[in-house]
Amino acid sequence: MYNSSSNDKSLNNITLLILIACIIILLYNKIKFTNLFNVGFDMSGGDEIKKITYYCVVDNLNDADDYSVSADDNKIANEIEFADEVENILNRSRWGDKYNIIRVDDPDKAIVKIHLSGRSSLDKFHDNPEYYSNGKQIRFSITTQSKFSKPEIFIDADNWHYGVDESGLSVNLYREYVINHEFGHALGYDHAECVKKLCPVMYQMTRGVPEGHTPNYQVKAEDYKNRIINRYIK
Ligand SMILES: [Zn+2]
Repeated sequence: MYNSSSNDKSLNNITLLILIACIIILLYNKIKFTNLFNVGFDMSGGDEIKKITYYCVVDNLNDADDYSVSADDNKIANEIEFADEVENILNRSRWGDKYNIIRVDDPDKAIVKIHLSGRSSLDKFHDNPEYYSNGKQIRFSITTQSKFSKPEIFIDADNWHYGVDESGLSVNLYREYVINHEFGHALGYDHAECVKKLCPVMYQMTRGVPEGHTPNYQVKAEDYKNRIINRYIK
């Protein structure tokens, strides 16, 4: 009886130990699964949203050739208009899916500086001029970035004001395209080919789209490819 009782006790202890072991294994695995789930979630949900600040400025457009709309007493108003329009475009841009894009009023606090620049100041970026079939020179807006300097966008003021007929976009849609495209460069995204019917925004719409394709001004999922990490926006 005693022995039997002792055996029963041993059995109970073993059962208890097995039960505790099971609970430990379950808990351990739950933690492991939770970690796995989190890793999986992070990967599918994208990286942490990065805060990207930007500042808009209208460069001195003194030369009549720089900007067909005279840079006179209205320059300040033009600057506000330019900055407001850029802000509206970036607020509805799908670059915002991965980046928290915020306009700032202090250039020192900006990661990206967006200039509206006179055409003559952009000549230095057109050392090897390219031409449309009608003989007109193709004039691009430019984004500069290097290991040593923050990204700076220079929007061609004439393109901004008049749009670019060859792009197939209206003036307003060209503005939307050029801000999305150059801001994409500032974020580190490279050019993309136009393969599908609708061209990606990182295709150079200023050149005109290939025959049978449709110009585009909005960021698409495919624009999130071809990224070169830069020092300021990792
Ligand atoms: Zn480009």
